[in-house]
Amino acid sequence: MIFDPAAHLVSSRRLPRKLAVLSIDLEYDYNGIRTDALNRLPALLDAVRDARLPLTAFVEGRLFAERPDLCACLAEAGADLQLHCHDHREPGDTAESLQASIAAFERFVGIRPRGYRAHTYRLTEELFQAVVAEGFAWDSSILPGIGFGNHPGRVFRQGDWFVIDDALAEFPVASWRALGIPFTHSYRQLMGRLVESALDRTASLPALLVYDMHMVDLVPDGRIGKSPLPLWLKGAHALARSRQRGCDDLTALGDRLRARGYEWCTLSHCHERLTRTGQCG
Ligand SMILES: [Zn+2]
Repeated sequence: MIFDPAAHLVSSRRLPRKLAVLSIDLEYDYNGIRTDALNRLPALLDAVRDARLPLTAFVEGRLFAERPDLCACLAEAGADLQLHCHDHREPGDTAESLQASIAAFERFVGIRPRGYRAHTYRLTEELFQAVVAEGFAWDSSILPGIGFGNHPGRVFRQGDWFVIDDALAEFPVASWRALGIPFTHSYRQLMGRLVESALDRTASLPALLVYDMHMVDLVPDGRIGKSPLPLWLKGAHALARSRQRGCDDLTALGDRLRARGYEWCTLSHCHERLTRTGQCG
């Protein structure tokens, strides 16, 4: 069952200033085992450095054992390493697969992860309980809007970030306020530049802007036909590919949001600042 905010104490919070976070869900390509796009991670890290953007990476748990080379690249680049689902071929984490991911993370990083993002933003009740039980400090799985894995509950449209059951800070993935259209790399590609500039004139973005992307959004490899994705999703990817915004688009995004008063930081840094100011425990 998808996470139901009505069954929990959800406290809405405001940010004192605008913060933007560049995040990536680092995973095998298209829910499978291909690595054509995944292997281009070093190019993304170069682009992120050139754009002067701190990066928060939610890493598919099995990558810590199977692709330590890529995880080392992230660590060397100073990325904020956190945990994504254990295996993207499964519909989402269970309490057991979450434990397996934490163990793999801990073996590689040396400490337990503090932040989590669920497979396709699908935070379920069971997963929420497991994330809290494992001692995570914060989560970034809620997409307050329409689209894949969305959480349309009104409460998530009434704040910048949230504390759930006095136990877990929630930093939602960005969407256009009021409309609920995701402000992520894949949705921006899907809508195209004309629609986005129309949205820009009519709708606002959240004060905490957690931008999400995937390697297949940035460097699509054109071999999606062999992936296990459903047909309609393959079509959406093909459309997005025709409007591709590559790694170099990140410089424009960084400058655009800075010009609007956003400061770029990692989600760990954001959580530390809120903890220091007594806003989360
Ligand atoms: Zn993912």
